[in-house]
Amino acid sequence: MRHIAIIGSGPAGYYTAEAAQKAFAGDVRIEVFDSLPVPYGLIRSGVAPDHQSIKAVSNRYEKVALSDNVGFVGNVCVGRDVSIAELRELYDAVVLATGAPRDRDLGIPGETLSNVFGSAAFVGWYNGHPEFAALDPDLSGRTAVVIGMGNVALDVARILAKTRAEFAGSDIVAHALDALEASRIERILILGRRGPHQIMMTPKELGELGHLERAAPHVAPADLPAPEEDAILEPGLRKSVSHLRAFAATPAHIRAEKPIDLEFVFMSSPKALVGNGKVEAIEVEKTRLVRGQAEGTGETETIPADLVISCIGYRTSPIPGVPFDERAGRFANDEGRILPGLYCVGWARRGPSGTIGTNRPDGYSVVELIAEDAESGALGAARKHGRAGFDALAEERGLEVVTFRDWKKIEEAETRAARDGAPREKFVDVAAMIRARD
Ligand SMILES: Cc1cc2nc3c(=O)[nH]c(=O)nc-3n(C[C@H](O)[C@H](O)[C@H](O)COP(=O)(O)OP(=O)(O)OC[C@H]3O[C@@H](n4cnc5c(N)ncnc54)[C@H](O)[C@@H]3O)c2cc1C
Repeated sequence: MRHIAIIGSGPAGYYTAEAAQKAFAGDVRIEVFDSLPVPYGLIRSGVAPDHQSIKAVSNRYEKVALSDNVGFVGNVCVGRDVSIAELRELYDAVVLATGAPRDRDLGIPGETLSNVFGSAAFVGWYNGHPEFAALDPDLSGRTAVVIGMGNVALDVARILAKTRAEFAGSDIVAHALDALEASRIERILILGRRGPHQIMMTPKELGELGHLERAAPHVAPADLPAPEEDAILEPGLRKSVSHLRAFAATPAHIRAEKPIDLEFVFMSSPKALVGNGKVEAIEVEKTRLVRGQAEGTGETETIPADLVISCIGYRTSPIPGVPFDERAGRFANDEGRILPGLYCVGWARRGPSGTIGTNRPDGYSVVELIAEDAESGALGAARKHGRAGFDALAEERGLEVVTFRDWKKIEEAETRAARDGAPREKFVDVAAMIRARD
């Protein structure tokens, strides 16, 4: 019997568990660890609360989690509560599926001013991640600047723009719903260093901006390349650009019917955040494209900003004892192998890119590496203690382990607490989650 520990219960973790079940059939025991008492990683705390159909992918992970040879070890932070060396003593293979939960820095002056957030923090706030639930962004100003032109920036801009009614059926947490309802924001700028042909926004998500109740998207027609230049774009991007063209074509008097302006600001690189304690403005340098990359022109502009959210990517958190690639912001690995017996998958392996489904082949390929290493003898004889050994260690350390059955009780309590039409009201602190299972 082989024992596999998967660290992280997001998509990469559960696809790996699914692949290991298939590859090792009855001859494997898998534990999925998570630092939170609740599973599913960014499916719960990243994917937008008003995109419930996407969150339904967790049903597939639940099926794996409920199998006899798969366990959940919630509320255990690897690297803090238990070390990698200890887990490697207990398991034949340890797979790091810890994602990339830290915001990449903008690296500009003024980044530490108040009301400046990274998207991990801001998204964590409206999705009820315990680490960010108390963020308390100040939404009393007029202008919000969202930095970045990917789907996370779109999520953030859309959430800032929606009315309470538009959150019907979502699982946005109550504190965020109330704060957003009281928001005074009238202008949301989506700021990017490059142009309309370089956006990383997918058409469906971008198109949603055109159907908001109280916000109208706007693109300055002069910012768009000549229409015939769209022909060289791949079809998805071409479709996204056609949405930008539709936004640019909307007459001003139609846009004026909605109280919130959602403006795209292209070819603008953030240079500094300015303010006295709290952010008041963002200084940008206009750019031009040189071989597809943004290059500063020296021309600067100062834009008022009462709230700034940067959506420019994420980094994995290092874990003591695991080689880390500082430049790339993820574990140092060769196609998922860190060394025989220690592997990584998902965002912890390849960085923050792709969709949920991209993590599936990742999980399957890392299991192939484990099988190869087991076959070649690199993992040694199958004599590890696995979960029994971990339980002894957890008891000795007084760790409060949350099982999958416990999670189901937490989930039931969240479902019971849901407001009308919502699927759940999430617990936003760890102590409350743990109380709910008792
Ligand atoms: C804001 C946002 C919105 C997104 N929306 C979409 C979308 O609509 N559609 C789509 O296809 N993709 C979307 N994605 C991408 C998708 O969420 C990722 O591809 C996917 O979640 C990555 O999976 P992962 O398992 O690598 O990491 P994660 O989902 O981040 O899971 C990592 C898990 O590891 C746990 N963990 C971390 N460190 C430790 C530790 N030391 N010990 C124990 N556990 C630990 C975490 O608690 C977490 O549960 C979105 C991403 C973001 C950030």
